[in-house]
Amino acid sequence: MTASTVKLKPGDTIGILGGGQLGRMLAGAAARLGFRCQIFASDPDSPAFDVVQHATCAEYADVEALELFANDVDLVTYEFENVPAAAAMILAARRPVLPEYTVLGTTQDRLAEKDFVTGLGIGTAAYADVSSVESLRAAIARIKLPAVIKTRRFGYDGKGQAIIREGDDLERIWIELATKSAILEAFVPFEREISVIAARGADGRVECFDVTENEHGDHILKISRVPAAIPDALAARARGIAETIADALNYVGVLAVEMFVVAGAGGPTQLVNEIAPRVHNSGHWTLDGASISQFEQHIRAIAGWPLGKPVRHGAVTMTNLIGDEVNDYARWLAVPGATVHLYGKGVSRPGRKMGHVTEVTPQAPK
Ligand code: AMP
Repeated sequence: MTASTVKLKPGDTIGILGGGQLGRMLAGAAARLGFRCQIFASDPDSPAFDVVQHATCAEYADVEALELFANDVDLVTYEFENVPAAAAMILAARRPVLPEYTVLGTTQDRLAEKDFVTGLGIGTAAYADVSSVESLRAAIARIKLPAVIKTRRFGYDGKGQAIIREGDDLERIWIELATKSAILEAFVPFEREISVIAARGADGRVECFDVTENEHGDHILKISRVPAAIPDALAARARGIAETIADALNYVGVLAVEMFVVAGAGGPTQLVNEIAPRVHNSGHWTLDGASISQFEQHIRAIAGWPLGKPVRHGAVTMTNLIGDEVNDYARWLAVPGATVHLYGKGVSRPGRKMGHVTEVTPQAPK
């Protein structure tokens, strides 16, 4: 049985690599469809452990733990993109892994990802490979300042990146980045940031949720609003781009494509910033704001079940509770129409995603 011909039945067990809030919400959606989940994560305090009966707490380099985990489950998926390739290969030799781990080779490396996206004829910020201060100077001569330097691997929520402006000390920026492989991107003067959450089934069918508009603070997602305040034609183009990317990756599951909206001669247009090969924070609104959530779509896709056609319940706002903002939960509980989600993380640290709140304003039927 190849990974893309899997068909799970209720009662089967899905193995999830990663124990954060995404794993926790995936396990919840899986349970509603009658599946069991087993979580594999290295941190004993993983919030996803709280919602499953069976968990493996071990390092991703622990071959024996990976093999035992594989024996326990019918299929493996993941909730974070930095799954070590070796771990994914050990699992894939024993059980179907979806999305197929070869996808990670593209999405774990910002340079490979940009090459892949531009290779599909899809626009991104101008970018250049940087491996030394000398190549950084050459890249700046071509791309101009301001620009953004990012480590090629393991960056998230703004970690491993810095804006470079005229007069900055390039030697210092390069040393502080602490890597030998980075990319320089032109700074994009975007009007807004949007994302498309797309699900692709094993049969190649793609279902996109409505385009989401995202507001960041300190590089961390603060608020998502749906629908995005963009022209219909741009929204259709953005969904088309996500579909093209999902097809080209032969993807099975949910992915997110983050984009910048920029002014163009013929109206606003878009540039792809990043692909996340997993359920995504900007899709959390779907839990309460649509008939089918991104988590359920992902489970349906990897199970070989038909995708649903999600119907949005209205205009939706999703507010992240970051760090100490989680202490406001009692105030949010009192807000009429608000739905509060807390991730069960013990300690709140600055920048740590602790929960989120969804507010749905029903729209009058057309
Ligand atoms: P990333 O880690 O690439 O998703 O970047 C995190 C955030 O930094 C994005 O959501 C943007 O707000 C900002 N950012 C990243 N790259 C650029 C860029 N090339 N131009 C302007 N802002 C950027």
